[in-house]
Amino acid sequence: MTKTNLRMAIFLVGVFTAIIVVRARTAGARDTANGPQVPESSYDTVIANGRVMDPETGLDAVRNVGISAGKIRAISVEPLNGKTVLDAKGLVVAPGFIDLHEHAQEPRNYQFQARDGVTTSLELEVGTDDVDEWYAKREGKTLINFGVSVGHIPVRMKVMHDPGNFLPTGDAAHREATSKEVEEIKTQVHRGLQRGALAVGMGINYTAAASHDEIVEVFRAAAAENAAVHVHLRHAGLKEPTTGLVGIEEVIAAAASTGAPLHVVHITSMGLANTPQLIAMVKGAQRRGLDVTTECYPYTAGSTNLESAIFDPGWQERQGITYKDLQWSKTGERLTAETFEKYRKEGGLVVIFSIPEAAVRAAIADPIVMIASDGVPVTSPKVHPRGQGTFSRVLGHYVREEKVVDLMTALRKMTLMPAQRLQNRAPMFQNKGRISEGADADITVFDPQRIIDKATFEDPLQYSAGIQFVLVNGVPVVSNGELVEGVVPGRPARAPNSQ
Ligand SMILES: [Zn+2]
Repeated sequence: MTKTNLRMAIFLVGVFTAIIVVRARTAGARDTANGPQVPESSYDTVIANGRVMDPETGLDAVRNVGISAGKIRAISVEPLNGKTVLDAKGLVVAPGFIDLHEHAQEPRNYQFQARDGVTTSLELEVGTDDVDEWYAKREGKTLINFGVSVGHIPVRMKVMHDPGNFLPTGDAAHREATSKEVEEIKTQVHRGLQRGALAVGMGINYTAAASHDEIVEVFRAAAAENAAVHVHLRHAGLKEPTTGLVGIEEVIAAAASTGAPLHVVHITSMGLANTPQLIAMVKGAQRRGLDVTTECYPYTAGSTNLESAIFDPGWQERQGITYKDLQWSKTGERLTAETFEKYRKEGGLVVIFSIPEAAVRAAIADPIVMIASDGVPVTSPKVHPRGQGTFSRVLGHYVREEKVVDLMTALRKMTLMPAQRLQNRAPMFQNKGRISEGADADITVFDPQRIIDKATFEDPLQYSAGIQFVLVNGVPVVSNGELVEGVVPGRPARAPNSQ
């Protein structure tokens, strides 16, 4: 036998062996399929007889969902056996809601969010300046999944030694950075991305003195790590030349020229009456091939810190509001010129009644606009209700009562779309926002006839109603409409570390 023939013989033996192995595997699979379909207690948990709605495949039918080891293992017309069976007859079984924008990443807020159907809560707008520390603080201790961006705001505050708490009040708000400081900001943003931050956060309105050049440089750092930039625009409102439209022009240009994906946060509080024009800008960018997305919350008021740069002189004209449109979150009182000055020195959250209902409806009705809460800490009695009620308010008020949008589209805006926003950078999101075999068992089960927000501007610390079961990685955190005590199945939602 020549060397070539020997090689050929070995090759053929290899091929035959491979064929035999493949046949054996096929036969094995068939045997299993013909055996008892469902062994006793084959799943940890079964959600039985619910109306399963999956925005990715369009499935909308009564099914049984089998869950084991934190994953969805079966979606079946036939009954399934489970150690635990949750009766979902008459209820919708949806992917758990993914909130791209929740500032208050604290245990009490996670409870409110779980009761509102949220299984993954992410702080992507303001973010953090220390990604490792942020995750370490929560790992193994949380009710729902959690994640963060590296934030231009906190990084700028650190580099420029700003005395502010959460949002800048000193140099980081009011002074242009030196070229050395811009370099340091870029280095720290890049470092955060290397440590697995999900995105880059920006709030240009809060760092009003940041040059256009600095903004483009931060986009460049994001593009290098395939991270989207989640931006609160430089300008909001209707007064030229500081309109929301001017604000969105800046970041669409930065995204187009650097290649960084762009996500515009709370488009309604940026656009106000011009919200449809801002949405049109996002759509136009998408049609021209740019990766640009946006989100909204379902309320006619915003909320932020009174001491922030947003309330620097000229705010009434810029935002088209006055003192009485501001509600002090510690007491619920509407402000006057005197109390404005007093509380601005003291510092704290205000609720800002500035968004027309028509703008809210335009955003909720539009299939490209995701839902995200922008929730804030529940440490004051009259905080904005959005962190507690956003998702139930969309499903109860705007879907069922007002018929502004259909149920499947609304679910897509709070499950699949946020997962898709993140999955290029953080592949773990390929397994979230879906009811499919192999997906993470993050699941929200609710009564479509009863679901509603209970948190109001007058009485904001109220759980939503109508959400029966919420599972996080297969573990119930809400059961029969009540929080489950003593469980911490939340896991870090994080991009792979590149260093
Ligand atoms: Zn914001």
